[in-house]
Amino acid sequence: MSRALIRERARGLRHLEASAYEPSALVIGILGTGDFSRSLARRLVACGCRVVVGSRTPSRFYCNSMLLPPVASQMEAANQADLVFVAVYPEHYSTLVHLKPALAGKALVDVSNGLQIKQEGPSNAQQLADLFPESSVVKGFNTTSAWTLQAGPRDGSRQVLLCSDDQMAKSSVMQLCRRMGFIPVDMGLLSSSLEIENLPLYLFPSWRTPIICTLALFIFFYLYNSVHEVLHPYITGGKNKLYKLPIEIVNVTFPSVALVMLALVYLPGVIAAFLQLWRGTKYTRFPDWLDHWLTRRKQFGLCSFLCAALHAVYSLCLPMRKSVKAGNADSWVEADVWRMELYLSVGIMALGLLSLLAVTSLPSVANTVNWREFTFIQSTLGYCALFMGTLHTLIFGWDRAFLAAQYHFGLPPTFLLVLILPLTVLLSRLALFLPCVNHRLRQIRRGWEKSRHIRFTLSSEDCFNGLENVSNV
Ligand code: NAP
Repeated sequence: MSRALIRERARGLRHLEASAYEPSALVIGILGTGDFSRSLARRLVACGCRVVVGSRTPSRFYCNSMLLPPVASQMEAANQADLVFVAVYPEHYSTLVHLKPALAGKALVDVSNGLQIKQEGPSNAQQLADLFPESSVVKGFNTTSAWTLQAGPRDGSRQVLLCSDDQMAKSSVMQLCRRMGFIPVDMGLLSSSLEIENLPLYLFPSWRTPIICTLALFIFFYLYNSVHEVLHPYITGGKNKLYKLPIEIVNVTFPSVALVMLALVYLPGVIAAFLQLWRGTKYTRFPDWLDHWLTRRKQFGLCSFLCAALHAVYSLCLPMRKSVKAGNADSWVEADVWRMELYLSVGIMALGLLSLLAVTSLPSVANTVNWREFTFIQSTLGYCALFMGTLHTLIFGWDRAFLAAQYHFGLPPTFLLVLILPLTVLLSRLALFLPCVNHRLRQIRRGWEKSRHIRFTLSSEDCFNGLENVSNV
């Protein structure tokens, strides 16, 4: 028996070897006749591959299209095929064990997904490999939906993540992928299959903290503004200002959230810089929370952009009372007109810069610029956006911070509260530009360590682009 299996394996491997040069030389088998199987079969046939589909009940199927492959029994399909896609749910893998001899020596592609995210194995692919030790299991195509297969690689993601312990089997599946118009991505050994299976199950993992922060800030500022604008006039003068809740309060809440979120994009970089200065080395790891925060800056920035864009739209919906007043010669107040003009102009510039940051954070755009250009846009222009946003808020506040009437129930007006974080970040950033601080930070970033007293001087070239250097965390 074992000799027969070895012979079978050798035959299968010879076929795979041939396929490395010409994938159409292979007969592709698909076990299962469900959604995935049908879409895959159609795509393979359209690419000129020879396909046979294996079903438990082939008599149910009547093929009347040139584009559909024949449906045979599972055993016939397993016997005829050189490379087999297992398009059945992992719960049913054990019902396929009678195909073991027919599948020996052949590549089995496990396309299954899990029901929930698993931290520990074995993965579905590893379970399949345990059931079929004489076959070479390749994990892949699970991140490709039946719809993408049917629509072709022009829609949806074109990448197909693959892993296997058998290099030759993996190469054959990679060839097949390319033939179908997809881009195979080698993820290494079969031990990576757990990660690949978990991928389609994640629900915006890197967005959780930024979204929670945005929502928490929105709720906080909405309530805070409601106390100022609705509750206070009601309690002190009996005035009903509830009409402000749907638009006006939302419109002053969004810019508050946008500015604080933008400050939160740049705050971790500043904290990291001060931490490195204090420790006198860059070789000690940052605490986990800071690491986590640093890797989520793009998402924080995009949430900030969303809030700023919504603020712009809400502002357009509101009647510009001040401008209307300014148009009336009787109530022309020069200072108010200046304030409104500057406020709008700086706000529009801040939104424009934020839009630029949002666009360049898209992978397809980011790939077209080099690292220095990317850090220039995300760091230098990002700080400009933060500065403009802060200025926009300062002009909005104008002299109101000094008026006692603005402190309802003793609470400071919202814009004062909002300004704390952006001003802290901007001033800290300025402190990092002080020559002595900037020089030491650049030394640390080039490997200088306080405890080792390694002495070296930076080249003059290095001194010219300090702007990018201090922000490169
Ligand atoms: P499906 O529509 O339910 O099809 C499953 C097929 O498995 C059935 O049509 C059946 O075909 C076959 N099968 C073999 N043994 C079976 C048994 N003991 N009990 C029940 N069915 C059995 O499922 P699907 O959507 O095609 O998904 C198949 C696999 O592809 C799953 O592992 C899934 O995770 C994976 N996948 C699917 C998609 C997708 O978009 N649908 C995307 C990525 C991955 P016969 O009755 O003809 O034998």
